[in-house]
Amino acid sequence: MKALDYPAEVRGILSFDFDGTLYEHEKEVVLDPSFYRKIESLREDGWLWAINTGRSLLYMLEGFKEGRFPFAPDYLVAREREIYTPGDQFGRWHRVEDWHKRYARDTKLFFEEAGEFIELVKEHVTSATAAQWVEEEGDPAGIVASSEEETLEILQFVNEHRHMSNLIGVLHNSIYMRFTHNGYNKGTSLKELAKRSGVGVENVFAIGDGHNDIDKLHPDVAGMIACVGNSQQEVVDYVRGHGGYVAKAHGSLGSIEALTHFLG
Ligand SMILES: [Mg+2]
Repeated sequence: MKALDYPAEVRGILSFDFDGTLYEHEKEVVLDPSFYRKIESLREDGWLWAINTGRSLLYMLEGFKEGRFPFAPDYLVAREREIYTPGDQFGRWHRVEDWHKRYARDTKLFFEEAGEFIELVKEHVTSATAAQWVEEEGDPAGIVASSEEETLEILQFVNEHRHMSNLIGVLHNSIYMRFTHNGYNKGTSLKELAKRSGVGVENVFAIGDGHNDIDKLHPDVAGMIACVGNSQQEVVDYVRGHGGYVAKAHGSLGSIEALTHFLG
């Protein structure tokens, strides 16, 4: 899977969350093919596009298959903060090295500074909740809760101890939570994509449906903000409160509706 040819002149960048915003796992057609036609025509007008997801790179590669992507996005941001560009005809993705180096350096600092906090949360999660503590390569401090209510309970504990370091970033969505340096989330990574593409904030479009999308729906990040009809209430309220567009349609059709609202 390759990206479309790079436009002669870049007009802006379009950022999509994946699950819920484009991909609807409960549907027979998980992603409507008309979405790709819409992207293709916007791409001809110079709009780059990116997927900013909480999924890991490997999990996202499954999503590309299931969603039958005919061409790759110009950027993939995995786990909210790992930036990749599409590679060769074998479908390999390239990590953006300068960003990754900075991220690795800051993350090391974060785990040094917030080590005590992480240990405290880990101890709480493993001894006092039904949630699972997850340590993965590149993502050493994560939680999978047993329910969304439990996520909120854990979040309360986290907030009570957040003062332990001023570098703590908490990324969460439904039953998933992860801790990272607070300079890295969907908002800062989208800002970086805009900077790399030479695009001003007024020409950044961002759409999502879940809590972890709120970082990129900030007016400092995107001048055109939207959410799909199946978004969490918190996201709907945020988008409405910031003059954005709340689509009626769900998933990929909701994303097309929002694109049409802003860009015709
Ligand atoms: Mg989502």
